Formats: sequence, structure tokens, C-alpha cells
Amino acid sequence: MVNSLTLLNQRKIYVTRTLPEEAMKLLHSNFEVEVWPDEMPPPKSLLIEKVKEVDGLISLLTEQIDEEVIKAAGPQFKGISQVAVGFNNIDLKAATKKGIYVTNTPGVLTDTTADFAFALLMAVARRVAEADRYVKAGKWKVPWGLMMMLGQDVWGKTIGIIGLGRIGSAVARRAKGMNMKILYYDVYRNEQAETELGAKYVPLETLLKEADFVTIHVPLLPSTYHLMNEERLKMMKKTACLINTSRGPVVDEKALYKALTEGWIWAAGLDVWENEPTDPDNPLLKLDNVTAAPHIASGSIATRTKMAVMAAENMVAILEGRVPPNLVNKEVLEVRPPEKE
Ligand code: NAD
Repeated sequence: MVNSLTLLNQRKIYVTRTLPEEAMKLLHSNFEVEVWPDEMPPPKSLLIEKVKEVDGLISLLTEQIDEEVIKAAGPQFKGISQVAVGFNNIDLKAATKKGIYVTNTPGVLTDTTADFAFALLMAVARRVAEADRYVKAGKWKVPWGLMMMLGQDVWGKTIGIIGLGRIGSAVARRAKGMNMKILYYDVYRNEQAETELGAKYVPLETLLKEADFVTIHVPLLPSTYHLMNEERLKMMKKTACLINTSRGPVVDEKALYKALTEGWIWAAGLDVWENEPTDPDNPLLKLDNVTAAPHIASGSIATRTKMAVMAAENMVAILEGRVPPNLVNKEVLEVRPPEKE
């Protein structure tokens, strides 16, 4: 008798990077698995070839899964399981049209990402990375400098959160612990955060004018592309810091360079960049008032493992014909209804 497990085992998936062991085990016990062995992303031409023959793809945010890739998918291809909460690298419309399920890994990385956003905020305010470079370069000569490397206070200051969703709210909880005044701007009101954390909804312009720290937690969408442009950076306080752990293109880097060198704002902390990896010659990297990180906000050992396992579980559900727990394009259910409850 052919049972459903046998059928599932015959399914082929392509995984665009080696995932943590726990996730790989889950995949191997369910599917025939092929993995891209390199650390660099696979070329688009390879993705186009693979989607013709496999049943599912497990991807990272570095893969450009555009209309061309999706159009190439064979009729057996059912889903893309992304190991990230953001999915701006996938053409969702094209996937939905073709009946392809797309999933992400929300929730499990919320607190880890918020920890990093807050770490970056503190590092920028108190010049931690700059101080490290200073000491290691042998520049520390005065035993204790009354005016040496002075920073900005964090406690009791005003934080402005752009995008009060999961990660933005987790940042707000940390800010509350630092006795900060919390302002937020979002396209939706978050009444729970207003009640529980005392977060105050304000128009974006007010947030930019009043906040000492502006931290960005919106997804990358056409409406958030270059949200922080020259005009909005100019609205910020001269002593304010900008923190971006969302997606690089939400900030116009050329405008930010001007803001930091012409003194419109005090400093910035960037985990994400318009192009990743950012060019070593990016002028922002030459500035002492920029603290840079290589897109590692969700990068704790525990969280990356959870994300990978979640992505594997999403793929198992897709290929079993169930509605996966973290389906992003819900409209796809009308195009390809689930086979099972
Ligand atoms: P979420 O969906 O819970 O929150 C996003 C919030 O942004 C929502 O409240 C939404 O209403 C709001 N929003 C959407 N468009 C807006 C606009 N035009 N103006 C103002 N607000 C708007 O998502 P999340 O889990 O908090 O993640 C947010 C983003 O963080 C992800 O999309 C991802 O790109 C990024 N992220 C980065 C890392 C990293 O490693 N740096 C890790 C995780 C997530």
C-alpha cells in the first residue's frame, strides 16, 4: 500500500543554503533534499532550472525570486518557504497567480531582532564601536578625559518608532524599561501598545521632530522605499540618532550621508543597507558617527535555528497539502485550495 509518507518522501525540494542541523534532519526525513553548497547565493539561472523540477524551494532573503523565476516553475511546484520574516525578495503577486504558497518565519525572531535594534541604539548613543576602535588604535592617552568621547543619554529620552508591529513593539518594551517616552507612527493604530506601554501615536512629521532616537521597523514596500529621505532627515533633531534594522532601501543612503556630514542629525546605526553586502567604499563606512553591522539583527544561535525549523515545518505542511502555519499570500488558497484540513 502506498501511504502518504511514501508519497511525501518522493517529493523533491531545493534548499538555497545549508540550514541548522535540526531543520536539515526534518527535511531529510520528509523529502528528497538538494542543497546549494556555497555561502554565496545561488545564481538566478540555477533557481530557474530547479523550480522546473522540484516541488518546493526553501529560500533566504538574498534570493531574487522574481516573476521570471516563478514563471519557470513546473506544474508540480507548490511552495516557497522563506527563512526570514521579510519577503520583499519574492514576487508575491506572481506566486499567488500561479497557485504557489509563500511562507515566512514571523514571531520567533521578534525579541532577538529587538535586542539588536536596542543594542545598536545604545552603541550609537554611547559611541561604543568608536570607543573600541579608539582604544585598540592606541589613541587613549589622557587617563580620564572629562570631555572625552561624550555621547547622548538614552534613559528618559524620547524614542520614535516607525512601524509598531511585532519588532517595533518589542523595542518599545525595552524602551519602557529605560524610562523613555515612546512615540510611534504606523499605518495602523496599536491600541494594545498604547495601553500597556504608554506609546503615543503621532504623525510621522511630529515623531521626527520630537524623537531623540528614531528606529525603523516597517517592511520594505513601495510605500516605505526611501521613507527616510532628505526631507524627513532634515526634520530630525540635530542631536538625534537614526537606527535601521528593517531593510536598507527604507533609508536613502545618499541623503543619510549628507545628514551625518552636514550635522542635520548626530549619528546612525545601520544593520541593513541599500545593497548587501554594502560596498567597502560606501562613504557611510568612513564616518565615525556610523555604527555598522552586516544584517545580523536576528542572528542569535537559538533564533536562527528556530527560523530554519519553522521554514522546514512550513514546507512539510505545503507538500502535505495543508495550509502552512505561516502563509503570507492567503489569496493563493482560492487559486490552489488545500487538499487537507
Ligand atoms: P510586522 O508586520 O509585525 O510590523 C511591521 C509594521 O509596519 C506593521 O505594524 C505595519 O502596519 C507597519 N507598516 C507597514 N507599512 C507602513 C508604512 N508605510 N508606514 C508606517 N508603518 C507601516 O513586522 P515585524 O515582524 O515587526 O518585522 C518588520 C520588518 O523588520 C520585516 O518586514 C523585516 O523587513 C525587518 N526585519 C529585519 C531583520 C534583520 O535581521 N535586520 C530581522 C527581522 C525583521
